[in-house]
Amino acid sequence: MHKFDLSNRFYYQGQYPCPVCRHGQVTAMPLMEAFACDFCQHIFTTNFDKQLIKMADSQLPLTWYWNGNQWQGIQGEGTNLSWGYLLSGAAFVTFPTVIVALGAYIFPTAPNSPLSWLPLLWTILTPLTHLLIVLWLVVEYYQLPLLLYLNALRRRISLD
Ligand SMILES: [Zn+2]
Repeated sequence: MHKFDLSNRFYYQGQYPCPVCRHGQVTAMPLMEAFACDFCQHIFTTNFDKQLIKMADSQLPLTWYWNGNQWQGIQGEGTNLSWGYLLSGAAFVTFPTVIVALGAYIFPTAPNSPLSWLPLLWTILTPLTHLLIVLWLVVEYYQLPLLLYLNALRRRISLD
């Protein structure tokens, strides 16, 4: 009904949910064109004509469009690139695991030796540690406010 109400537009005096953490509110910074989130502290540049907000403090071209109710992520030129990252991430997790597993298969330890459990443990640990490294890189790269999330979660649980 109020779909074209001006108050639903993205404008300078408004207050909007944060598209990054989906927890805080983004508002205009005093005396500046930029918007900032009061929760994850990310800074955004704005384009009110096109109803766009763009993350200013990230290497990624992250842009969102305000549709009147919520932010819609806009797939930029980085899409193909992130597929490449995803594949390298998968390879980074898979290949060492395959090599370790093959090693354990080709050179089995004697069943009665005290360290016969080691290759199996190694085969399990390798993908886990590599996955952790990839996840850590993703968190670092997108600068996700992971600790803030956890704190907010804890607050919410303790309030209930
Ligand atoms: Zn935020």
